[in-house]
Amino acid sequence: MAIEVFAPAKINLTLHVTGQRDDGYHLLDSLVSFADIGDRLTVAKADEMRIDVTGPFAKGVPTDRRNLCWQAAELFGETVAITLEKNLPHAAGIGGGSSDAAAVLKAMEQLFDRPFDGDALLLGADIPVCQIASATRMQGIGEVLSPIKIPPLEAILVNPGVSVPTPRVFKGLERKNNSEMDMMPKTHRSSDFWTWLADQRNDLEAPAIAAQPIIADVLRELSFLGARIVRMSGSGATCFGLFEARGHHEAVYRDLKQRRPEWWVEYATLT
Ligand code: ATP
Repeated sequence: MAIEVFAPAKINLTLHVTGQRDDGYHLLDSLVSFADIGDRLTVAKADEMRIDVTGPFAKGVPTDRRNLCWQAAELFGETVAITLEKNLPHAAGIGGGSSDAAAVLKAMEQLFDRPFDGDALLLGADIPVCQIASATRMQGIGEVLSPIKIPPLEAILVNPGVSVPTPRVFKGLERKNNSEMDMMPKTHRSSDFWTWLADQRNDLEAPAIAAQPIIADVLRELSFLGARIVRMSGSGATCFGLFEARGHHEAVYRDLKQRRPEWWVEYATLT
């Protein structure tokens, strides 16, 4: 029996870096959402661990213990054969590896008919939130999770094909003790949510732009095309533009694809 699972792209709608612990871990305050596009995996029982990677972004993805899927299976305590259809760019700030690992844990719970009882945080700060896979406020070092209801957001995701090493971006932060997110609106009116979201930040945007100035071009382009909110996700380089009018973002998608064939451009609904 093989279990099929979807590993959605993780988009940090906000990412405030609020401190750093003595052990080096950063304290974060982030509203994390998930897209309806992502990687696809199948997981089956096997005598030995094995990972096969296919898909448009297969190149460069490790097929050994370095792959987070492999480490997730080890932490679960069983051997499996995994096929990973890699549709998301990696080292791109959209949590590809983390979402894949969370999906493997989910699949293995079904496959072996028992809950995962390990500490997912050992695999990375984003794994617990990826196990939830819908809008969540993430605080602490990734372990304080509060699911949040957000209006579905129509987004264009753009990656200009440059990679920005996460440690370098954190190192470039001017200060580590930035403010938390403002209080979220208590109402469920989407206009209140949009106004609130526009006022929040990704603190990693400035150091990522310093490392890869093309990120500023992506943000400018998305604004120019009418996105109401533009921001970078994670430590970059993927950026998103949010569009209020339904359907509008599909025209923008086609336009960008045509004018910037070298960029990865996708449209997605974030929830
Ligand atoms: P984040 O949003 O958490 O910063 P990211 O998108 O920057 O994540 P990943 O896509 O997880 O980062 O890739 C980072 C590196 O991890 C890759 O360069 C790759 O070598 C390695 N890696 C390990 N497992 C995977 C996986 N399943 N998919 C992609 N990359 C993986």
